Amino acid sequence: MPFICENVECRAVLARGQVRASHEDEGWCFYCPDCNARNELKDVGIPGGPVQLVQPERSGPPHRIIATARPLEDGGYAAQLRVQRALAIKGTYAVEERWEQLGVFPNAHEAVAHANTFASELLKA
Ligand SMILES: [Zn+2]
Repeated sequence: MPFICENVECRAVLARGQVRASHEDEGWCFYCPDCNARNELKDVGIPGGPVQLVQPERSGPPHRIIATARPLEDGGYAAQLRVQRALAIKGTYAVEERWEQLGVFPNAHEAVAHANTFASELLKA
C-alpha cells in the first residue's frame, strides 16, 4: 500500500520507495517529498522483529462539508448541503454534490444538524 500525504492541499500518493522514514523523539514519521509535511507512521512489527511501518488509521480523508440553513418565506429553514469528497489522488476533490433542500425545519440549528447527519451517512458509504 502506498503512503498518502496527509496535508489536505497536497495528498500526494507516494510509493514506499519514494519516502524515507525517520525515527524521531515523537516516533516514526516521513516527510512528504512534495510539500515537506510531517506524516506520522506507526511500527506494527512484532517486538524485537524488523520494523514494519504503516500510516495510522485516520477517521477518513478530509472531505469538505458545508452545511447551511436557508431561511424560507414562511418562517422555516431549509437544510442545504454541499459536499466535496476528497480523492486519494494528489490535491483532488470530486465534483461538488449539492442538495438545495434536504428538509424544512423550524429553526436554523436543526436544519444544519440535519444536513451534517445526512453528510456523515453519505460519506460512510
Ligand atoms: Zn505532501
